[in-house]
Amino acid sequence: MAGLVPAMNVFNVAPTMNATDISDFTADEIAGGEALFKAPCVFVKGVTSIETLPDDGRPEIAFAGRSNVGKSSLINALTGRKTLARVSVTPGPEGGLYLVDMPGYGYAKAPKSAVKGWTRLIGDYLKGRRELKRVYLLIDARHGIKANDRDTMKLMDEAAVSYQAVLTKADKPKQSELETIIAKVGEELAKHPAAYPQVLVTSARTGSGIPELRAAVAALAPNGVVP
Ligand code: GDP
Repeated sequence: MAGLVPAMNVFNVAPTMNATDISDFTADEIAGGEALFKAPCVFVKGVTSIETLPDDGRPEIAFAGRSNVGKSSLINALTGRKTLARVSVTPGPEGGLYLVDMPGYGYAKAPKSAVKGWTRLIGDYLKGRRELKRVYLLIDARHGIKANDRDTMKLMDEAAVSYQAVLTKADKPKQSELETIIAKVGEELAKHPAAYPQVLVTSARTGSGIPELRAAVAALAPNGVVP
């Protein structure tokens, strides 16, 4: 039943100009991230099979994670939107890249057919998508890596898709607990060949880590983004 297959939602962001500087990343990298996400981000489409993904060759950055991990909140914080306009189909400006919001997994009440649909869609996407530059794997900063995250990591390792962990809801745990989780997640990821070694730490609520995540995404945009 096609109707039960959760869609992957594709957004387009295209670069414009501007600059500021903040921590960790270089000022230029932060400025590049800010410049990229100043651009309008428009909903392009929701797809339930990879055949209907955009075919113009723009690079794609995907966001994956358990349902309720804070994926919508993080994408909204990243793009500066309050709500994702899932119905708007305004064509995006030329250039930029696609943000692919992968359906959340691990929802206990999901019907079997939806889980099957998810597994097939994600498997097809991860294995067969030249445009996919990186998957940001969202992990709840209170809970760390769970069994179904490991299933997704296995799929990405097998498909040799570059991925990076992003802790969400970093405002929730105490600083000491957060540090323990960061270390644990980092240690586990270090054992995975396709995983990028750095763990990004974010809070959609406070905005911490958002400029850094923007910078990381911008660094993957075609030729970088010159502020
Ligand atoms: P999704 O299912 O992964 O898209 O998750 P949502 O973005 O809908 O968030 C799930 C729940 O976590 C909601 O109740 C959010 O308000 C909450 N949440 C999301 N991001 C944060 C955050 O950075 N900090 C805190 N404290 N709560 C968050």
